Amino acid sequence: MSITSILEKPSFTRNDIIQLLKLSGNDEKLLFKYAAKIKEDNIGNTVYLRGLIELSNVCAKDCLYCGIRKSNILSTRYSLVEEEVIEAAKFAYDNNYGSIVIQSGEISTKSFVNKINNIILQIKKITKGQIGITLSCGEQSIETYRTWFESGAHRYLLRIESSTEELYYKIHPNDENHNFQTRLNALKTLKEIGYQVGTGVMVGLPFQTIEHLADDLLFMKHLNIDMCGMGPYIEHKNTPLYEFKDSLIPLKERFNQTLRMIAILRIMMKDINIAATTALQTIDKIGREKAIQIGANILMPNITPGKYRDSYALYENKPCTDENAEDCKNCIDVRVHLVNHKVGYGEWGDSKHYKNPEKTSQI
Ligand code: SAH
Repeated sequence: MSITSILEKPSFTRNDIIQLLKLSGNDEKLLFKYAAKIKEDNIGNTVYLRGLIELSNVCAKDCLYCGIRKSNILSTRYSLVEEEVIEAAKFAYDNNYGSIVIQSGEISTKSFVNKINNIILQIKKITKGQIGITLSCGEQSIETYRTWFESGAHRYLLRIESSTEELYYKIHPNDENHNFQTRLNALKTLKEIGYQVGTGVMVGLPFQTIEHLADDLLFMKHLNIDMCGMGPYIEHKNTPLYEFKDSLIPLKERFNQTLRMIAILRIMMKDINIAATTALQTIDKIGREKAIQIGANILMPNITPGKYRDSYALYENKPCTDENAEDCKNCIDVRVHLVNHKVGYGEWGDSKHYKNPEKTSQI
């Protein structure tokens, strides 16, 4: 079957997706062009901003790929104080970013839960409810998710990392603290509470196959997500998975595979929000712009106070750790215009999918 006839199908089979993930050269260009058109027709060429605040790298988890895992004693731990977070949020507000994302290592102590709650309440107060708040603080109890939602957070990002249970346990310790089913249930709980829910995976992990990636896309479709963040896996030398670095596909190929994943997902889920992730920029200086051109519509400029950025090292060579929020601001507008898009200043830029009356829940 020709690529065009696959692209025009009303829905993709697993085999279709596998075929699309393997494309290169002119056929790959056809995929990208088709995805760009789907985006333009369904959600337009506006890119929405989420000022990213990396609140803390203190983490109770030991994910085998992650530089801020609990057992990495070489990581310098930090937690922003409330005032620093509020100040960063105020920067986003003053510069018309529309939304922020608060991301952190995974902790669920009472003091952490209360801290996040106070921060949400204060941000809502000082911005007169005008800043949208996305959280990315890992697995928490139903009560915690509900409290944060009631205080004003309305989007939540929790990557499943891999939707194949077997692969999940190759990249996480197989214990109570890293339970696949718990993570899946957390996503379902977040949906039930009413959040716009985002998930995602890393692309190019050791042991990962094209079939795993195809299943990840089908998983997202089945879960009927509102948002997605996918990025290439980038090895970190102080993590257990580093041992498998010689078995990885080259960085450039991980990058291209991520772009194909984004383009295919855009065709499968026409009106969701898809982020152009920072990890793409680590491999290619204009990696995020390339993602925007082929289907992504969300950018997350870092607004974490500059002095902490080096410490939030999920992977190595993270970009822009020597910059401050002010530097990013100037850079964003130029970058977005370069790829013939415009920035949706002052707007929440919610996932259209969430509000789509035809959206049927499949949980
Ligand atoms: N603790 C939060 C989020 C913090 S990490 C949570 O559990 O949701 C944010 C994301 O960074 C993770 O979901 C993971 O997909 C990604 N990440 C971690 N280590 C990485 C690596 N080595 N390469 C690429 N992405 C990585």
